[in-house]
Amino acid sequence: MNQTFKKFSRRFLALFSVAFQEAALQADHARLSRHIVALNKKTSSTDIINELSVCLKNILNYRLFAFVVKKEAGVDVWLDPDMYKTALEHIILQDFHLENPADLTYLNNNAGLNSLQKSVDLDNLVYYELSEENCYARLYMLPEKPVYAFHDEVVTLILQGCATALSKQLKMENLRSAAAIDPLTGCYNRREFETQLSRHMASATRHQNNLSLFMFDLDHFKQINDTYGHQAGDLILKKIAFLVKDNMRQGDILARYGGEEFIAILPETGRHKAMELADRLRTKIAAAEILYNGTILKVTASFGVSELIPGMDMRRLIEDADTMLYKAKRNGRNTVMPGLIKVCPDAAATV
Ligand code: GH3
Ligand code: MG
Ligand code: MG
Repeated sequence: MNQTFKKFSRRFLALFSVAFQEAALQADHARLSRHIVALNKKTSSTDIINELSVCLKNILNYRLFAFVVKKEAGVDVWLDPDMYKTALEHIILQDFHLENPADLTYLNNNAGLNSLQKSVDLDNLVYYELSEENCYARLYMLPEKPVYAFHDEVVTLILQGCATALSKQLKMENLRSAAAIDPLTGCYNRREFETQLSRHMASATRHQNNLSLFMFDLDHFKQINDTYGHQAGDLILKKIAFLVKDNMRQGDILARYGGEEFIAILPETGRHKAMELADRLRTKIAAAEILYNGTILKVTASFGVSELIPGMDMRRLIEDADTMLYKAKRNGRNTVMPGLIKVCPDAAATV
């Protein structure tokens, strides 16, 4: 395994001591082994970094700690729960050649982040680099006490354990997302949709919550491909998926169900609200103007909505949405089925 670790100091730390106690070192190594075993049992990157933090606190009594993992776009930042955000943010941006604080994703972004700012003297900030084939990260620390030589050895051992665990975890996370995400639209794929639906149906049944689905299919999409080409069709699929995701709640799940057909899970949503949302999305899709090679392309979509009824299985719930979608196509497209019945107050008053 090709790991490299380097340690740097922002100001020279003349802190190395010749005298350290053998007993203390042995005790540290015993604790260290326990932490490294624990690191390798963690099942998410955040859990691994949390364990790393506990380990550093136990063994080195760190004062300030941040762990920054480089991602394809931007970086993931784990900050000490005491939150020295203001103090560290500009250093992280500078070190990772980023300009925009929005490129930093805070993994442990606690509430109260801004109220717990502490001013610290960063002259003694030390950082260690961790470089693996699929992972580049930096560990920032502000040692509270003088740093003895064996601390360096301990941190290197901790980082070795962390690098192995993190690299394995990142590989698994990448594989998992490759298996779950449709590469063209960034939506979940059909298989992942079914996994998520079964989880959400179980939870809705357990908590007696509503749950609805909508399915939509782009209208006359073959004609668009035939007229403007497959690339234009691909662009439309991407833009429509983005538009729909952008107008749904965070907990809603959108998946590409087939070629130009999408399906969404709406947790804690009854049929009526689901139809309202579907109709809002239908209107937005019809109004969207997609620019392709100087030409404005427009598209419409037909929607079918279904709602979970006690005792219903997954196949039936999907089938209901599909039947409604088919009806929407038969009803002339660019519509939602079942449709909303609007009661006109004037008509009601005259009855
Ligand atoms: P309808 O309104 O009845 O749904 O008509 P339609 O033309 O949309 O339906 P049809 O099933 O006849 O055609 C679907 C088209 O979607 C044909 C296929 O080439 C296109 N399609 C499916 N997947 C993709 C894709 O990934 N990219 C592109 N560009 N086109 C796709
Ligand atoms: Mg279609
Ligand atoms: Mg279709």
